[in-house]
Formats: sequence, C-alpha cells, structure tokens
Amino acid sequence: MSRSAKVNQAILIIFDDIRAELLFGLMNEGKLPNIAQITENGVKCLNCITSYPAITFPCYGNIVTGSYSGYYPKEGNAVPMYHWLDRMDPPSTSKKRPFIRNYGDRSQLLKINKDVGKNVKTIFEQAPQGNTLSSSCFLFRGAVFDVGKNVFDVEGIFKNIEDAFEHPRKYFPNNEVPIISIGYVFQTDDIMHKNGFNDSEYINLIIDCDRYLGALLNTLKKTGYYDSTAIGIITDHGNYKGKEHFDLEPFFQQKGLKPYIPEKGIGDFDCVFGSVGFFNFPGETWHHHPSLQQLQKFETSGIGKEKLNLIETLWEIPGVKYMYYREDNNKPEKGIIHIEYQEKDSEKRMSGLIEYQGFGKEQKSRYIFDGNDFYGYYQNEKSAKALDNKFHTIEEWLEATNHINFPMIIDQIPRYFKNPRSCDIIISTLGTHYFNYEHGKTVGRTPYSHDNGLRESMVVPFIIGGSSEIPQMELTYCKTTDMVPTLLNLLGIKPHPSVVGKSILK
Ligand SMILES: [Zn+2]
Repeated sequence: MSRSAKVNQAILIIFDDIRAELLFGLMNEGKLPNIAQITENGVKCLNCITSYPAITFPCYGNIVTGSYSGYYPKEGNAVPMYHWLDRMDPPSTSKKRPFIRNYGDRSQLLKINKDVGKNVKTIFEQAPQGNTLSSSCFLFRGAVFDVGKNVFDVEGIFKNIEDAFEHPRKYFPNNEVPIISIGYVFQTDDIMHKNGFNDSEYINLIIDCDRYLGALLNTLKKTGYYDSTAIGIITDHGNYKGKEHFDLEPFFQQKGLKPYIPEKGIGDFDCVFGSVGFFNFPGETWHHHPSLQQLQKFETSGIGKEKLNLIETLWEIPGVKYMYYREDNNKPEKGIIHIEYQEKDSEKRMSGLIEYQGFGKEQKSRYIFDGNDFYGYYQNEKSAKALDNKFHTIEEWLEATNHINFPMIIDQIPRYFKNPRSCDIIISTLGTHYFNYEHGKTVGRTPYSHDNGLRESMVVPFIIGGSSEIPQMELTYCKTTDMVPTLLNLLGIKPHPSVVGKSILK
C-alpha cells in the first residue's frame, strides 16, 4: 500500500441501462441487499450525470477512460457514438471511402479497443503496476487478464472476479490478486430495449446480479480482501419509453436521399436515429464534412436530383424539437455550434449558439440565445446564473444544471462535435417520436430506448463502498467520469492528465 492509498484493490461493476431512481428504488424495497450493504457505509449519489448523447458508446467508454469524445488527434477518447463514420481532420486523401463503425455488430464490437484514442488511457492502463482484470468489459485495453469477452453468462461476469481473488494463479503468474477489476453487465440493456424498464425479467436480472455480487462480497470477506477493496457501482445511462413510432424509409426516398454505401462510395447520407438522429452528409468528398452552404444546397442522387436545403428538410421529420450543427471553419480549440429549437410545428423556430474554447478539463463553453432559452435553464435560479454570457467549465455547468433536464449539455455538445468522427447534424424529438432507423433501414419497433438529454436518460447511480476506509457520504451530484479518478485516488494512483472527471474525495 502506498502512503496515500486507502485501499489495495478496486472492483468496478458497470451495469448497462439502469436509471438511478430504479436502482435506489429497488434498494429501498429491500430487493438489493448486497448493493445496499456497500452503499450504506460508503459513498452514494442518486444524481450522477452521464455523457450526452446518453448512448452506451460514448457513455460506457467515458466511464472506463474518465474522459469524453473530443478532438482525438490531440485529446479525448475518440469514440463519439455507437455508430460513426470514419472521417479525419484534415480529411484523408485515401481512395478508400470512410467506413461505418457499428458496435452493435458483434464482429466490430471489440474494435473499440483500437478506436479509443491514444491520448487517453483506460483505467487498466492507468494502473502503473499490478494485475488488472476485465470481466466481459468490451473496452479492456491494457488489462493484464481479459477474461470473458465472449462470455454471455451474467453470473460468470461476477464469478470471474470472485475466482481471480480466490485463485489468482489461474489468472496471473505472480499469484497476486488484481488491483483493478471491471465487470460489465451488458445483458440488462438487451432486456430493457426488448421489454422495457418495468418488465419483470429486467428487474429480476438486476436482483440476480445483486445475489451474484453477494457471493463476490462473501469471497472477498473469506479471503481477507474485503476491507482493503473499494467496490464501485455505476451505470452508463438511464432509459425512456418513446411515444409515437414513425417509419423514415419512405421519407428519405421521397426526398431523393439515398443511404451511403461505403464499399461503393455512393449515397447521399448516413443516419442512425432513435429519438436523437445523427446525420452524416458528404462535403467535397465523403472524407470531408460539408460546409453550411453545401448543406443548404445539397444535390441528391435520387430522382429529380433536387437541390435540398437539408437543414429545412430535416425539420420536416415529425416531432423534431432540437437541431445542432457546426459553424464553418471550427477549430478543435475554438468554435461555434448552432442550435435551433422549435416546440411545436405552429410555433416560430428559435436559434442560438454554443461557443467553446480549450481542451479536456480546461474546455469552456457558453450558451448564447435570443429571447428565451431552449432548455428551461432560466426557470431555475441556480441554472439561470450560468446564463451570464461567460464561458464555463464542465464543473461549472454540472453545478448549475445537475438538478434539471439537459444537465451539462452546453459542455457536452462541443465535446461531441469536435471529434472528426462526429456527424454533421443532430436532431432530437426528446422521445415524443422515435424511428429505430439505422443506415437506410427501420430496424424494429421497440419504444424502449435511451439517448436524449432528459433526466430519465441522463441520471445514473454512483456508489463506492466496501473497505471501511471509504467515507460514508452522500453527494448531491457528480458525473460518471468521476468514478475512475475516485477509484484511482483510493488506490493512491494519480489519474492520467487526459482524465476530465475528478475524484469526489478531494
Ligand atoms: Zn448502455
């Protein structure tokens, strides 16, 4: 144990797709006695803010690295979204067309380990020495022992960690227990999308996980490691039920917009769209992001070869309330994102800007609008204070907006758009209308999803317990990128400079 270390080991369990209110609700009902046990004597937060968009990637990758998307040739973890188009800045001169990355495709999933930027480090890479264990954590870069990347058994995720403490030699030649272990429970997300957040199969799986965690805690006690181990529990995002489904395939056909086919380098657009839509369009080539003028006078390849103003065209999609796109000539260190907002079809559309400067922890952003603000920040005394025309850090945005809808969104939007792999236009219905559209096809009709900036998607649980060295405290707010630096702090390890989150114990 180094002088500043409070614990010798950290175990992090990341559940996919559980809201804070659900997890703490089940705990209050006495259904999760083991999670409750570590929560009672440790750190808890019922209001931990995840990344925007509230989608597994980036959210889960951001937890593991403690950083956000960003301009990855210089900073940031480089994975903007579950699906992205491989574009660079400056644009590649390669003849090969930009590919579409889709982590939903099992054959592409583990490529995340290469996709994550070289300027950030996973928690495994941040441990200077010692054994590290990934148990079905798909982002395992730097883990000494990567077990279970192909394991699809929930109990096995916990059992692997248990086993590594009971029989370390099976995993590590030096027969020492892992100092950092991550178990990632992705199965909760699969069931939530299929059956929803009130479904008994979903709830029962969470209850099962509590039992598996109980077995792990018992093993830690039995082997004498419990009091020297910090156990973190977090989720990547919450969820919601969409209201009205709409099939976008005919809409795009009618507009003459053809989906991009990377192998052939043809097509007008690429899009994925739950209730937040991510649109890519070609500029000079598919390697280039389009200019505003190119978006406004876009020549489609479909029937009629019409010139479309894409910004206006996308507003015709039912239920759209928010739109975001870049100003021309944005730089990674300084730029402008346009926001357009319209509550209902009948109302006037309003516009505003997010201006940003700087990188990583130092990034500052400000929100400028005419007349009314679009996020309801003015209606609240604390958030209204951040609308002072001044640039604010992520910590300042978090403090001002953690308790309302769209927490930290003014900080998050620029971090997304700085990434050359990010799309050209985002639109959002906030869940009133949903589309389940991916790369040219409507893929199913499930109304259960997550992605929007509302609290239902953005607020997750944050728990650290185990060792009696961990103080008993309740935080009024924190963010998901605080988990890794807090665990490292407990271990007496200094986080990598790329980490944007901060230890909540400081
Ligand atoms: Zn997820």
